[in-house]
Amino acid sequence: MHVNAKTDIYGIIGHPIGHSLSPFIHNAAFESVNLNSVYVSFDVHEENLKDAILGIKALGIKGINVTVPHKENVMKYLDYISDEAKLIGAVNTIKNNNGILEGYNTDVTGFTESLKEHDIVVEGKNAVILGAGGAARAVAVGLSLTGVKSIMIANRSKEKARNLSNYIKNNLGINCIDVTYDDLNELEEIDILVNATSVGMSPNINLSPVDENVVVKAKFVYDIIYNPEKTLFLSYAEKHKIRNLNGFDMLINQANHSFKIWTGVNFNKNIILNILKKKDFVK
Ligand code: NAP
Repeated sequence: MHVNAKTDIYGIIGHPIGHSLSPFIHNAAFESVNLNSVYVSFDVHEENLKDAILGIKALGIKGINVTVPHKENVMKYLDYISDEAKLIGAVNTIKNNNGILEGYNTDVTGFTESLKEHDIVVEGKNAVILGAGGAARAVAVGLSLTGVKSIMIANRSKEKARNLSNYIKNNLGINCIDVTYDDLNELEEIDILVNATSVGMSPNINLSPVDENVVVKAKFVYDIIYNPEKTLFLSYAEKHKIRNLNGFDMLINQANHSFKIWTGVNFNKNIILNILKKKDFVK
């Protein structure tokens, strides 16, 4: 990478940010399409969010990804919000369009595309989502937009589960209810079971949001966590030979959509995967 006076700056803001794979993905992508651009991470605390966003304009930063905990709060500082980001209520991609800050959300497409790539049929299925944070919202919207029949949302904080289920019901017209983790023991069968909590994420790899007895009821199991590659939750599915997927494809797909919004072109997913494999980020 040759950084010089003409290098365009991109990056990610969040807190904490140290473990993000996005700099590796985007820097590899810029190199693969021969763009004189660099992508760095910015650890931004909540009280500094407004200044950080003003800094994008002041410094002429071309594009920014937004991650936990800023995806919702950042919206009030932007000049334009896409319809999809409005529907989801969160922005994960900002494009600096000649001083106009535009907000987009690529998490939903990243998620739904990963299902499509693996031939997972959502239409007419009953889904259970574990979690009610920002990622769970993207998963719930994604499943709703691809024709799911019903959604149950289980979350530690009951109030957040209720808010999300009401949101999906009222804005997307899907039969969506909130349940407790205990309620899941009573279910006979689950078509699609998605972990959208952070439980099981590195370094807490010995934890699962639900026990094996819930996972075995599922026909398809998705953990949107990508580190570790195989969470304890996914290992239950694997043990019972249930089809399963981790969060890596969703991560790469959402990154590719952000890349397209910024540069007008897609990166080649396989080239990026190979680079990440060489750096030992992917097995
Ligand atoms: P978030 O908004 O902070 O939500 C965290 C969720 O996890 C909440 O539902 C929270 O429940 C639950 N949770 C956390 N600790 C828990 C515990 N000890 N016991 C039970 N529940 C717990 O975070 P997020 O943005 O939704 O991210 C969630 C996960 O998705 C993260 O692991 C993130 O890396 C992953 N993710 C992956 C992708 C991808 O591209 N693959 C994209 C986005 C996010 P409460 O509401 O009760 O606190």
